[in-house]
Amino acid sequence: MFGLIGHLTSLAHAQSVARDLGYPEYADQGLDFWCSAPPQIVDNITVTSVATGQTIEGRYVESCFLPEMLANRRIKAATRKVLNAMAHAQKQGINITALGGFSSIIFENFNLHQIEKVRNIKLEFERFTTGNTHTAYIICQQVEQGAAQLGIELSKATVAVCGATGDIGSAVCRWLDRRVDVADLLLIARDRDRLNALQTELGRGKIISLEEALPQADIVVWVASMPKGIQLEANKLKHPCLLIDGGYPKNLDTQLQHPEVFVLKGGIVEHSLDIDWRIMKIVSMDIPARQLFACFAESMLLEFEKIYTNFSWGRNQITVEKMEQIGKWSVKHGFKPLLSF
Ligand code: NDP
Repeated sequence: MFGLIGHLTSLAHAQSVARDLGYPEYADQGLDFWCSAPPQIVDNITVTSVATGQTIEGRYVESCFLPEMLANRRIKAATRKVLNAMAHAQKQGINITALGGFSSIIFENFNLHQIEKVRNIKLEFERFTTGNTHTAYIICQQVEQGAAQLGIELSKATVAVCGATGDIGSAVCRWLDRRVDVADLLLIARDRDRLNALQTELGRGKIISLEEALPQADIVVWVASMPKGIQLEANKLKHPCLLIDGGYPKNLDTQLQHPEVFVLKGGIVEHSLDIDWRIMKIVSMDIPARQLFACFAESMLLEFEKIYTNFSWGRNQITVEKMEQIGKWSVKHGFKPLLSF
């Protein structure tokens, strides 16, 4: 069995979902309540491989984490949410569970690998994967295929990566350098030391502010871990421009209405067969029976392949070879990158 640990994008979102799912006792509560709410399994999932016809079962574990916990410095609550959700998944006997959205970021940022025991459960970390290798692979496919659709020639293109030093961002940079060879790579993040280290590793890339990067970039990959999206003006961008928003919650808080600005939902895959679940309706996927986060799909792929190990683990360890490997399984079992603007 595979598992998905997820969370909602804001307190308001959580309250409305609780109402829709039939948890009225959660619906009118504020942040304090969500800080103390235990994890819940709110969905049972079945998904079928197009290659093998094999059907696997999974569980969605709602961690009850909300991005406002980080914004309001409720760090203890945030870390407890992730650990409790992991313990809950393990207690259900789930073989491989993806840590969706901020779950893996909290795990890394607050060194949760040091905490081995949650009450009477000794966490077995090999049962978990961040899902970031598949997410990075899918975002790179969206860059390559999205550019081709728009007639942007990558060998002449400038690609900016916002969140370049992160787990997903650094993997995207490695792929764009080695597998695509884009003309210019712009590296955006806040911590200068980590940017310097990435630039040294790649042997290329220009460290630049977001404001400077936007007018130069043919493509912008957004993979910054921001609890809230930012506002952007279409006239500050190059035309045409492809924006791939891989953040969860989204990095972009604007609906950009411009004929030459194209926005893709980043890190989203579409399965070729319907998946029996309701959770993707809750996070507003356009086709909820088929579309999902690539990190969740990673745990499905590992279950299909019976690989019960943390395929994606630790920060900035994702190699191009591992991206190619997960990419092969992704295609084999019927997942495709989302490419509709
Ligand atoms: P990491 O924490 O590893 O990296 C985050 C990156 O964002 C770092 O480079 C960080 O650098 C940068 N960053 C954070 N805040 C800002 C800011 N205000 N301006 C510029 N850069 C910033 O995160 P991940 O790589 O694991 O995840 C990245 C995003 O992808 C998250 O939003 C996550 O929820 C989402 N995600 C999506 C998935 C999907 O399936 N679609 C799956 C998993 C994650 P610095 O702190 O130095 O600024």
